[in-house]
Amino acid sequence: MENTDNRSILLIYTGGTIGMKTDAATGALAPFDFSSIYDEFPALRSLDIRIDVHPFEPIDSSNVTPELWVQLAEIIREKYAAYDGFVVLHGTDTMSFSASALSYALQNLEKPVVFTGSQIPIGVLRTDGRENLITAIELAAARCAEDGQAMAPEVSLYFQNKLFRGNRTSKFSAEEFGAFRSDNYPALAEVGVNIHYNRAAILRPSAPTEKLRICTHFDPNVAIVKIFPGLTQTTLRAILGAANVRGVVLETYGAGNAPTAGWFIDTLRETIARGVVVVNVSQCQSGTVNMELYETGMQMQQIGVVGGRDMTTEAAVTKLMYLLGLGLMPQEVAARMGGSLRGELS
Ligand code: ASP
Repeated sequence: MENTDNRSILLIYTGGTIGMKTDAATGALAPFDFSSIYDEFPALRSLDIRIDVHPFEPIDSSNVTPELWVQLAEIIREKYAAYDGFVVLHGTDTMSFSASALSYALQNLEKPVVFTGSQIPIGVLRTDGRENLITAIELAAARCAEDGQAMAPEVSLYFQNKLFRGNRTSKFSAEEFGAFRSDNYPALAEVGVNIHYNRAAILRPSAPTEKLRICTHFDPNVAIVKIFPGLTQTTLRAILGAANVRGVVLETYGAGNAPTAGWFIDTLRETIARGVVVVNVSQCQSGTVNMELYETGMQMQQIGVVGGRDMTTEAAVTKLMYLLGLGLMPQEVAARMGGSLRGELS
């Protein structure tokens, strides 16, 4: 790759829709070769940012597992000193899970890690991937004019003119170019003719001299249970009683409400007594869990269900995997689930 400037980013390609192009001869979709990115997009040279590419074996993000998160954390740690920032190209379907997981996996992060992808393959004329890619590169390399520090040293997600904190996002649309939303936290930057950073919303490293540390183990023994009118005791018991389950994200109604039926509360109580951490998040996209508002929430609080406040399901389930993966006791996992680790809850 050409070396045009002292700014540099590592483009890590994991797969997804963005990595396809139309084969001129057959008209079929074929993989896009990101290692020849300057040939595909000569205009990238004008950015004055050196772009190196680290391709993974491309996968559809439906096949993402925690192993990919560890591989991403490891490559970022290995290359950390050599680059100003990192762009992760990822399928949109599970991008919010991966961005959330990476936010926990990378501790003391001082450089941007920007996830992006596209709804239409990058090699198709009407793609949204070209703008997403180019702007993500700019955002990952952007430094503050005053102190030379990264503008947004967080794990973030850039899509359709908005830079979000990664662990605040959810995929919202399978159709619109604006595929992601962050309903409980403002955008870190809005992109129009100029890039407008929301400096007050961006996390700064608390101890800037601390070394980057990564997590190398996520415990996948967790479950997500979305309650609905008609959920039976048998079904709930079957999920919560599974021998391997150590943590549960319970998606409740509204401000954190669930049935007050005896069997429901008893099942949760027994589950918690077995050392399983149960976290309450809302099925609503926006707003927060407040278990003190209604009797239905208070009962859960009394038996030790953790209030997940305004966390997304993606942020909550990956946080459980991360904390359980650290080998902490259930009480410690529960205590940390209720507080903010990387700005994932208010
Ligand atoms: N199925 C694709 C994926 O998540 C969708 C996309 O990239 O938009 O890998």
